[in-house]
Amino acid sequence: MLSQRTVKSLVHGQGIGLHSGELATFRILPAPPDTGLRFIRTDHQDHEIPAHAAFVVDTRLATTLGKDGITVSTVEHLIAALFGLGVDNAYIEVDGPELPILDGSAQPFVDLIREAGGTVAQRRPKKFLVVRRPVTVGDGDKWARLEPATCFRLKATIEFNHPLVNRQSYELSLSDTGFVRHIARARTFGFAKDVEAMHRAGLARGGSLDNAVVIDDYSVRNPDGLRFPDEFVRHKVLDAIGDLALLGAPIIGGYVGHKSGHALHAQLTSALLAQPRAYEICEFTHRKEVEGAQLELPQFRLGGLAAL
Ligand SMILES: [Zn+2]
Repeated sequence: MLSQRTVKSLVHGQGIGLHSGELATFRILPAPPDTGLRFIRTDHQDHEIPAHAAFVVDTRLATTLGKDGITVSTVEHLIAALFGLGVDNAYIEVDGPELPILDGSAQPFVDLIREAGGTVAQRRPKKFLVVRRPVTVGDGDKWARLEPATCFRLKATIEFNHPLVNRQSYELSLSDTGFVRHIARARTFGFAKDVEAMHRAGLARGGSLDNAVVIDDYSVRNPDGLRFPDEFVRHKVLDAIGDLALLGAPIIGGYVGHKSGHALHAQLTSALLAQPRAYEICEFTHRKEVEGAQLELPQFRLGGLAAL
């Protein structure tokens, strides 16, 4: 049986929010099967906000979830880390309106989960969202699509009129270890001109070279340079994973994004969920069912990620 998973034990961390600049503390706690991922605002009477596409309330600069007027923002890197590690169920407590940005990637979340013992299987079959029909959304020359595939496959392309970025494409099939190996370390990025304008407008208050790649006209300002030559597009894949994880289940389908971002991803998940024939929720309790479906399902049997 492909089992649902949760974190093995309490995960704890803190840091400043990219946009608010405020210090926030978060805890990830094990949750029973079929809970999904749920945020809890401990500074607001433990108000619960499900990490689900139906609760996306803002996609400018980051993905913000909200319910009854209480929000939690910049959720995408933590959600991507949990999704990439095969976690189906967890409570995520946070004592403010924004998750810490940490180093601007998903790797610190992966490390904290690993240090706390990794993940554990639960006695309930994993529910997969299998894409059955293509769904495309677009805005000018930007577009994003989900389509049927034998595994969760992602392809992103970005284009910036800048010598360091230009056009970059990245494609991967998400296996048990693919997220940690190829995606988790890619940091968010910004152009120095935009960052300065955002600072003047009171945005990205916590943004610095410690939590973002900053590019000026000719070079990367971060003293240690890039973590991957194509770190920019890999981070776009990271963001896509975090945003698509809000569908609420591991995905068996192909994602293609061209100059896409949080806003289009929110449109894409809504469009898919609005078309019941475009997807199916499937459980696979026996190996024969997996073979019969001709799908490559991630196994997530690594537990504490010892093999990574
Ligand atoms: Zn991001």
